[in-house]
Amino acid sequence: MCGIVGYVGNQEAVPILLEGLHRLEYRGYDSSGLAVCTRGGLKVHKAEGKIQQLETRLPKRLKATTGIAHTRWATHGEPSDRNAHPHTDCTGRIAVVHNGIIENGAELRARLLAAGHELRSDTDTEVLAHLIASAGGADLEESVRRALGAIEGTYGLVVVDERFPDRIVAARNGSPVVLGIGEREMLVASDVAALVRHAERVVYLDDREVVSIRASGFSTTTLEAEPIEKSATPIPWKVELYDRGAHEHFMRKEIEEQPEAVERSLRGRLDARFGIAHLGGLNLSARDLLEVRRIKLLGCGSAYYAGLVGAHMLERLTRIPTDAEAASEFRYRSPVIEKDTLYVAISQSGETADTLAAVREVRRKGGRVLGIVNVVGSTIARECDGGIYMHAGPEVAVASTKAFTCTLVCVALLALHLGRIRDLSPSDGKRILDALERLPEQIRTILTATDQIRAVAERLKDRNDAFFIGRAAGYGVALEGAQKLKEISYIHAEAYPASELKHGPLALVSPETPTVAIVPNDDLFEKSLSSLEEIRARRGPVIAIAHNGDARLHALADDVIVVPRSEPVLDPILMTVPTQLLAYECAIALGRDVDQPRNLAKSVTVE
Ligand code: GLU
Repeated sequence: MCGIVGYVGNQEAVPILLEGLHRLEYRGYDSSGLAVCTRGGLKVHKAEGKIQQLETRLPKRLKATTGIAHTRWATHGEPSDRNAHPHTDCTGRIAVVHNGIIENGAELRARLLAAGHELRSDTDTEVLAHLIASAGGADLEESVRRALGAIEGTYGLVVVDERFPDRIVAARNGSPVVLGIGEREMLVASDVAALVRHAERVVYLDDREVVSIRASGFSTTTLEAEPIEKSATPIPWKVELYDRGAHEHFMRKEIEEQPEAVERSLRGRLDARFGIAHLGGLNLSARDLLEVRRIKLLGCGSAYYAGLVGAHMLERLTRIPTDAEAASEFRYRSPVIEKDTLYVAISQSGETADTLAAVREVRRKGGRVLGIVNVVGSTIARECDGGIYMHAGPEVAVASTKAFTCTLVCVALLALHLGRIRDLSPSDGKRILDALERLPEQIRTILTATDQIRAVAERLKDRNDAFFIGRAAGYGVALEGAQKLKEISYIHAEAYPASELKHGPLALVSPETPTVAIVPNDDLFEKSLSSLEEIRARRGPVIAIAHNGDARLHALADDVIVVPRSEPVLDPILMTVPTQLLAYECAIALGRDVDQPRNLAKSVTVE
């Protein structure tokens, strides 16, 4: 969601800023802009629409070595040239870019207008530029600190002032800000992806911190001007991993990367001798884990659906009552936090604002939270008591694929670890462990079925609606499959537990409304066949994702996409992959913008 890049150094800033914006493009945005400190003072350019619009507007010569840039995802004020960031003060000497929401923006705006300021946009952000300009600090950093004293809300904020062209000031409260340390140059961004080509080490700002950045270094303070020492960490992933390479879309690339991503999630964590998983980052002793009476998984969107699937894995392998809940709702229902409940927060980016808020709510009330996070060093990773990194590699496409499967692998590792501390026998542990090790190869096999799935998509694409059904953990797979189809192809899709069909949605089943059914050959297989019979009796087309060729299933389904068998608890991981391909192929057939679907953003850093 919305991106920030800033540069101060000795190279031309504009191309570096634009490259950074392009690397953040995947997050979703509606307009973009940049401000640079030139010899002739501050210059600001912005445009609604894609970054290319901004590029065509830039003058040929725009020489500067300090600048800031932004991709906006509007929260206050429609997407337009006028509302695009950067925003400036009345005199045009200070420019700000901002991610987040200024909650008392309306009140501050009224006050500024009364004091004679001229505000030119409808955004909440613009007040920041005016407040900083009139704060009267001895330098930019002090002015920013003073202005932020009046602010309620969330911000990742980056500021330049033409009177101090050798520096950028940034601040964070609730929206990520990361510094990239280069050779006599410094960058600042909302996401490591924007820094990878110029920096090898990064520094993550924490909430209520302000940093002053020059080419030669940086200094950090709290909002109250207390100096803070920050340490740098290396960027975990190689720059090439952020590139699309020969693939047409990031989503395709990330679907295909799943075998290696899963291998990385497993690497070094399996111990075949004892049929156990080692998870170094849990920060919980076997004794702590023995005391767990309940597990609750928290996540938003696909992470929530991964939680629903994962809850089945955990409950089956540990016999601890487990459920999943949408983190976006959790904190608003004043949840009862219990000390013997283990909370697990799932977030690819580690910056999902709603999930972070849930983590904070649990911790505030004395609960214990583990994170399952992909981005090393991200806020959720840092704020949890411990956790498991997915190691999926950067996920750029808005629609999550490899992070979903790697989340499930991490939950399975947790389930194995906890299960073996409790009742799971060594031989059962060993069976799960062997099945985990087979997953990468099995995913490779599924990926070879692309032609069949493309042919199915060719028919599905012309439908207005589709159902996805599954039982138990398969219902979570159905939810994720339906979500994927909606997100990127814009075909309306709904997921139901297969057993619920007859309680309502069957009314809509017709030859026009296909059903994608998750039908593993498990102990519920016969029940699943009955649901398919009900659909068939209404002449509804059926696309089954199933194990091997059961003749009855073939008789009931128009298409059967066969996936290899795993252990029943792990089957959902493999059954997810064809749903990803199906959504992808439908979106391609419909000519959709697969990597950047409309209205959506990657890491949702606002509430
Ligand atoms: N609230 C600000 C706006 O609407 C910032 C949006 C963003 O984070 O991109 O302009």
